[in-house]
Amino acid sequence: MRLDKYLAESGLGTRSEVKTFIKKGRVRVNDKLVKTDKFQVDANQDIVKFDDSLVNHQTLFYYMMNKPAGVVSVTQDNLHKTVLELLSAEDYRTDIFPAGRLDKDTEGLLFLTNDGGLAHDLLSPHKHVEKEYFARIEGRVTQETVLRFAEGIELHGEKGNPFTGELFIEKSSEISEIRLIIHRGVYHQVKRMFLALDMKVIYLKRLRMGTLALDMRLEAGNYRALTAHELEELK
Ligand code: URA
Repeated sequence: MRLDKYLAESGLGTRSEVKTFIKKGRVRVNDKLVKTDKFQVDANQDIVKFDDSLVNHQTLFYYMMNKPAGVVSVTQDNLHKTVLELLSAEDYRTDIFPAGRLDKDTEGLLFLTNDGGLAHDLLSPHKHVEKEYFARIEGRVTQETVLRFAEGIELHGEKGNPFTGELFIEKSSEISEIRLIIHRGVYHQVKRMFLALDMKVIYLKRLRMGTLALDMRLEAGNYRALTAHELEELK
């Protein structure tokens, strides 16, 4: 790959900034000064130094996004804006994808990565990774609803055990507010679980996936890289 791309991916600066560093003679490849940004580096073999410090080339990327309503969590869509279109030009890569989907009208935590292995582990039905949601429900959620979720709810067209969830009532009224923890993840699961009890989800936001909690400082539509600690816990 081109040296300027390699350096930009390593977080040293934008493509144009790293080109300036290269021209200024601050970059060495295998101990040889390289002053052309088109220089080809082998990311698996070459040793690249910037001002005599070893460059750590990052190839795997991990982001958390606070998905806004109105965008779809797929990589490509002809009709709707996708979550990938919310990434800046610098962070966008063709191999990044959302690990786990949220409906178009659902907000909150979306994990984006190009690490297929980690995504697979997180989404595997055998791992039972917890997902926590906040929701507003049309209808009065009561202790009986909590019990129904604890016992399990049959969903039309889904095989296996009934779907269980830990339900916490935050407000019980004509429009109730709840937090729900589920361990599986089938299409529209939260909405379908409430619908099975004749209640309608009118607002849904994911707060957590396993150990990864949504950073409440992220405004809808914003995202950030995972911290080293968040990534370690997730793996
Ligand atoms: N359950 C739903 O019904 N929708 C989502 O987006 C996520 C979970």
